[in-house]
Amino acid sequence: MKDYVVIGSGIIGSLITRALSKYPVSVHLLDKENDIASHQTIANSAIIHSGHDPKPGSLKAKLCVLGNQLYDTLEQELDIDLLRTGALVVAHNEAEEAQLAVLLERAHTNGVTDVKIIDQPTIQTLEPRLSKGITKALSLPTTKVTFPWEVAIHAVANAIHNGATFQKNAEVVSIEPNESHFTIQLKDGSKIEAKHVINAAGVMSDLIAAMIEPTPEFKILPRKGEYFVLDRKAVGLFKNVIYPLPTQAGKGVLIVPQTHGNILLGPTSYAVTDREDESTTRDGLAYVKTHLQSLSNDIPFDLIIRTFAGVRATSSFEDFYIQESKVYPHFYHVAGIDSPGLTAAPAIAQYLVEHVIKIDLPIKPDYDPIYRKTPLFHTLSEAQKIEEIAKYPKHGKLICKCEKVTEQDIIHAIHGPTGNDTIKGIKKRSRAGAGLCQGGYCESEVLKIIARETGEKPNEVNYYAEHTPILVKETKTK
Ligand SMILES: Cc1cc2nc3c(=O)[nH]c(=O)nc-3n(C[C@H](O)[C@H](O)[C@H](O)COP(=O)(O)OP(=O)(O)OC[C@H]3O[C@@H](n4cnc5c(N)ncnc54)[C@H](O)[C@@H]3O)c2cc1C
Repeated sequence: MKDYVVIGSGIIGSLITRALSKYPVSVHLLDKENDIASHQTIANSAIIHSGHDPKPGSLKAKLCVLGNQLYDTLEQELDIDLLRTGALVVAHNEAEEAQLAVLLERAHTNGVTDVKIIDQPTIQTLEPRLSKGITKALSLPTTKVTFPWEVAIHAVANAIHNGATFQKNAEVVSIEPNESHFTIQLKDGSKIEAKHVINAAGVMSDLIAAMIEPTPEFKILPRKGEYFVLDRKAVGLFKNVIYPLPTQAGKGVLIVPQTHGNILLGPTSYAVTDREDESTTRDGLAYVKTHLQSLSNDIPFDLIIRTFAGVRATSSFEDFYIQESKVYPHFYHVAGIDSPGLTAAPAIAQYLVEHVIKIDLPIKPDYDPIYRKTPLFHTLSEAQKIEEIAKYPKHGKLICKCEKVTEQDIIHAIHGPTGNDTIKGIKKRSRAGAGLCQGGYCESEVLKIIARETGEKPNEVNYYAEHTPILVKETKTK
């Protein structure tokens, strides 16, 4: 019997698991996919918003502003990437400038610091590639950008170090409430018993709720967001996150510098019925290009290296739904976590554990909040490289030339505390395949290394989920 089972290893479930691992309780994290952070947490804008936009008084507003601050602590504790970009929300005429003034007021009410309106010459000095038609901007210096799935992976690694456990390929198909515990049935037929259950299942959170409640108080209304990614050669072309004015549909199409030098362009925001259709569309990408025109006519579209899409867990409740079930005590919903869920995630974990669960236990004396990643070889100093290569000669072979990833970097990614044996899992941890050629040259080498390290046959190595091999059959006989 587990004290706590957390369903979903996105950024929310991962940080909740870590928050619970501070206490003398058993915590078990489940995900239906074969890796941490496989849905919203891997497909978003990566912005740690300042908190200028959510409705004052809402949980979104409070937890966004607090979450933004808590990322500075996460950076220290979990060794995550954080780029302090700042952001500009731009206006093109007097009517839009009036909306900036409303946003400024809202930012002040939400407790965002250092926010101010800047004029056109200042905007052009900061961001010379922005459209000359931009007349004013709201400057938000506390906006940052992170590497979202790294945050989740490091949080789980740290939680495991503190005694938690993680089970992948563990799809919850039903939940039976009993007198003093819940029995969770997985797709593979196994069962797990837990005294407390936390539903952090993202776009599936209303389906999990419906497993125990006849009429959940929220319904997920999924909304897709599509993007272009610019190659790292675009580094520095835009230094701030650039937002248009927000609308009912969301924050609009943005320009977002990323922690590794790429720039994201997007997203769209439209209702979809398939909660996990993460494909891009011709119309969606055309929409992104059209809407970027009001921000800049100087975007190097020839540097596009890929497109991607994510599906937001927007809900009928409108605000984040972070509550104990009204039907079954000890079952908690952390649902409707759309934007700014990435930003708010550390604050959501803290709020759930301290104010909703109200855990009343001492922190374990041996709780260790620190996780340190194995640095990628190319990030080391010359002296460190000499030391490392003596220990690990396989650093001498460069596998991904675009992102400078060595064979040993890939071996570390396979065998790390939350290691993975899929092509996409290795890309998430080492960036092999994330560069200009998008794995065209290195993917087959990564596959061979995974097969060798795990003892799998090459045609058993999966791209991302179970049963997604790249090699399906032999094309030549000996
Ligand atoms: C296009 C887009 C742009 C965004 N931009 C930003 C941004 O810039 N800044 C920001 O703050 N927020 C942003 N967000 C929101 C942010 O990404 C999400 O709020 C956050 O990632 C939610 O994390 P999560 O853990 O709740 O969900 P997810 O990451 O989706 O994780 C849910 C997990 O539950 C698992 N699961 C589902 N059903 C089951 C089951 N039956 N059994 C076991 N496991 C299950 C899934 O496999 C998944 O891993 C954006 C979102 C999108 C889609």
